Amino acid sequence: MASLLEIIGEALVTYWSAPLPLAVIAVCGASMGTLLYVFLTNARNAKLRVSLLTGLYGMSIFFWAFVATSILLCIGQARMVAYARNGVPLAVSGAVAGGLATSAIISLIVWRFGNSAVLRRFSPREPHVEERWIQRFVDLLGDFEGVPRVRVGIVETDQALGMAVGGKVRNILVSTGLLTILDRDEVETVVAHELMHIKHHDAEFKVFSRVLSRILFFDPFSKFFDPAVHREREYLADETSGRSTGKPASLASALLKIADRGMPPRPAWGLSILGSGRGIFSRYPPLKERVQRLLLLSEILPSSPSRENA
Ligand SMILES: [Zn+2]
Repeated sequence: MASLLEIIGEALVTYWSAPLPLAVIAVCGASMGTLLYVFLTNARNAKLRVSLLTGLYGMSIFFWAFVATSILLCIGQARMVAYARNGVPLAVSGAVAGGLATSAIISLIVWRFGNSAVLRRFSPREPHVEERWIQRFVDLLGDFEGVPRVRVGIVETDQALGMAVGGKVRNILVSTGLLTILDRDEVETVVAHELMHIKHHDAEFKVFSRVLSRILFFDPFSKFFDPAVHREREYLADETSGRSTGKPASLASALLKIADRGMPPRPAWGLSILGSGRGIFSRYPPLKERVQRLLLLSEILPSSPSRENA
């Protein structure tokens, strides 16, 4: 009688030499290749690139969850995989279902608890009378953009912080330090940038992908996709903030002022408007590129002053 180890060995060989699991891997690889190709050939389409990267990131999570569940099934149900007539197809469906379920459960936990952790850490207060205009502005812009009720919270700190926190109750947090250094137009564009993160569900996604990239610490793809998705989402939030407020140049000058003030110390979950680091592993795009894109946008927007002067 074969030992358990031999049966497991046989199950692994049978499983990974069968066409079905290899087909799942091949389809995964081909889709990722296609998404990557479209991504690389669309340098300036921020919206498309965000969707493509999110897809790529999701595929890579599924890929690993599928491989892990497959191996677990080969070990736990070795006899079935190795000898049952439909052993392999059953295990493959199990692995696909298991992969999807694992991703869903992790997402749910992170979505439920990740954001409240951020709020606890910054413990924002209600806006004072002279700060209430920010809430009114957020309500108006939210109405226009179709983003229901977002609460504005003020964080008492000298650091220049602006961030979006998603979850059950959505919040935009701005610090008193930020309000001191920016003029009203600049505050509006920063708040609009954060509202766009909420509209695009970036706040949830950020917490989510951060936790996942820690769980998938061995996955080379997520090391690349996680920061890349964030950089594209920043560009998209910048662009949509500039378009909806009509003041992209104000956002550019706000970013420069915040950078001048010094980078915030590694903000919780990388949610702040500006971050340090550069290159393909940075979660924020280079400041210079962000400012340049905003100034270009300000040139082409019809109502911008530079156009009127031309
Ligand atoms: Zn941002």
